[in-house]
Amino acid sequence: MKELIRPYLPRLAGAGLLAAGTELAGVALLATATFLLVRAAQQPPLSALTVAIVAVRALAIGRGTLRYTERLAGHDAALRVLTEVRARVYARLAARPDTAPAYRSGDLLSRLVSDVDAVQDLLLRCAVPAGAAALAAIAAVSVAVLVAPAGGLALAAGLVAAGVVLPALAFALARRTADRVAPLRAAFAVDAVDLTYGVADLAAYGATGAALAAAAGRAAELSTVERRLAAAAQAVDAAGVLVSGVTAAAVAVFALRGHASGVATAVLTVGALAAVEACLGLVGSARRWVEIRASLRRVSELLRAPEEPERTGDLPLAGPVTLALERVSVRYAAGHPAALSTVDLLVQPGHRVAVVGPSGAGKSTLLRVLAGLLDPDGGRVTANGRDLAAYRRADLPAAVTGLLADAHVFHASVRENLALGRPGATDAQLRAALAAAGLLDWLDAPPAGLDTIAGEDGGLLSGGQRQRLALARAVLADPAVLLLDEPTEGLDPHAADRVLADVLVAAGTAGVVLVTHRLVGLESLDDIVVLDCGAIVQRGTHAQLLAEPGWYRDTVGPRVRRAGVRAPADAPAD
Ligand code: ATP
Repeated sequence: MKELIRPYLPRLAGAGLLAAGTELAGVALLATATFLLVRAAQQPPLSALTVAIVAVRALAIGRGTLRYTERLAGHDAALRVLTEVRARVYARLAARPDTAPAYRSGDLLSRLVSDVDAVQDLLLRCAVPAGAAALAAIAAVSVAVLVAPAGGLALAAGLVAAGVVLPALAFALARRTADRVAPLRAAFAVDAVDLTYGVADLAAYGATGAALAAAAGRAAELSTVERRLAAAAQAVDAAGVLVSGVTAAAVAVFALRGHASGVATAVLTVGALAAVEACLGLVGSARRWVEIRASLRRVSELLRAPEEPERTGDLPLAGPVTLALERVSVRYAAGHPAALSTVDLLVQPGHRVAVVGPSGAGKSTLLRVLAGLLDPDGGRVTANGRDLAAYRRADLPAAVTGLLADAHVFHASVRENLALGRPGATDAQLRAALAAAGLLDWLDAPPAGLDTIAGEDGGLLSGGQRQRLALARAVLADPAVLLLDEPTEGLDPHAADRVLADVLVAAGTAGVVLVTHRLVGLESLDDIVVLDCGAIVQRGTHAQLLAEPGWYRDTVGPRVRRAGVRAPADAPAD
């Protein structure tokens, strides 16, 4: 973060100087106006007031101009820094989705967006005002000490109270508020989400009343804590008013005791009020600093996360692709069991490979590694005999892709959702992919059509239509290696078999890796790999696996025997 801000420090310093100038012009304006009023009360000749009158006008105009240029310079510098930070953060997120899995869910992602915006507040609402207040305070105290030394010292004490002690108090209170309120707010937000999204289930189980009562209890607790802490914050604000009053009175007393004239005393007193007022702005900055600090910590963590090894290769990856895993291991986090351990797999053009096994065996992880979305901790992934790193990064998604776990359906039309798979596809190509996924009949029946809006994550479609749409997108992409993670999940058994058969035909000469719990029709596949606890425990054709003892025979065998010839079409494996 620091290195992103460093190039813009001169611009920020300029903005700080302009801000200090603005504050000083404000203090001088009040002091000069006071001089004018007090002196005018003594009824001197008008010529004695001319300079003061001109000075008041000049300071009033100058203050406005300085404020405008300060805002311009400050925002210019802050927005330049923000652009750099934003670009870096988005590049990190986009470059490697698995780098920050915690940021992938909507609320955390949107929090990250506001975290990045906090950089702007750091510069404009904390750094620049703090620098400006310090400069203005030093200048004001210097002038006051020259006129009345004791009054100057009283002003210095008031400025320290207003610009250091009260902001420190406000910071401590705001931190306490954040510590106490944040968990309550988070819990309340969870209640709100549960009540909103779970409304049907709560009603079905007669639990709406209890859930509402729990949420109301949490809301009451939250508002009690917030009220108490808000009262403490108001006390700090009131202390600010007290500090400016006491400082002004002390300055007046010391100035008079130091035999300053009545006019000088009035000018010093009002000037002191204005100077303290300028420093009290830091109380707000201190409160904001609490939120900014947390935001900056999260952004810095993301930027500091180890960089993805850069794919430097420039080989094109086109045409038929043979994909191979060689002793590939994956561990999601240190201390966790391996999600994949020493896995070997070969996917040749035109070959159909099924990956089966119990839940949590590592099947989806295997597909993510094949798709280049997850770098293995050990072993290597090759395409046509070369490490994936040797190829142009942009070529990989077109060559190896498909329907991965939890595919997202965008809040856009069916056509736009499909176009993601192949931008610029013709209607004929769209229709062919939709036909393979078994969605064409629905789409051709009014009112549906290619321009039907799918809704947020396909919410306006049925579960089956949503799945078929995601599948059609994978087919339309027409990659050299098609990855399918539970492609027929949510479809009725007969439709599932038909759709899978059509998709395999549509895949043509592409290699296909199919992850499935539906252990039906696997006899037509070239290779079946059984994963368990991240390791391949069996591999072979359907007939070979049925002939040997193991998970496959234990799971599929009884149904094959019951059916007589082939497994029934309606039971998932586990
Ligand atoms: P299922 O058939 O239930 O979909 P799977 O065979 O596809 O399971 P994976 O999703 O590959 O299994 O998960 C393998 C292991 O890795 C599991 O123990 C899982 O808890 C863990 N795992 C998967 N994704 C993550 C992740 N993002 N972070 C941490 N652990 C993960």
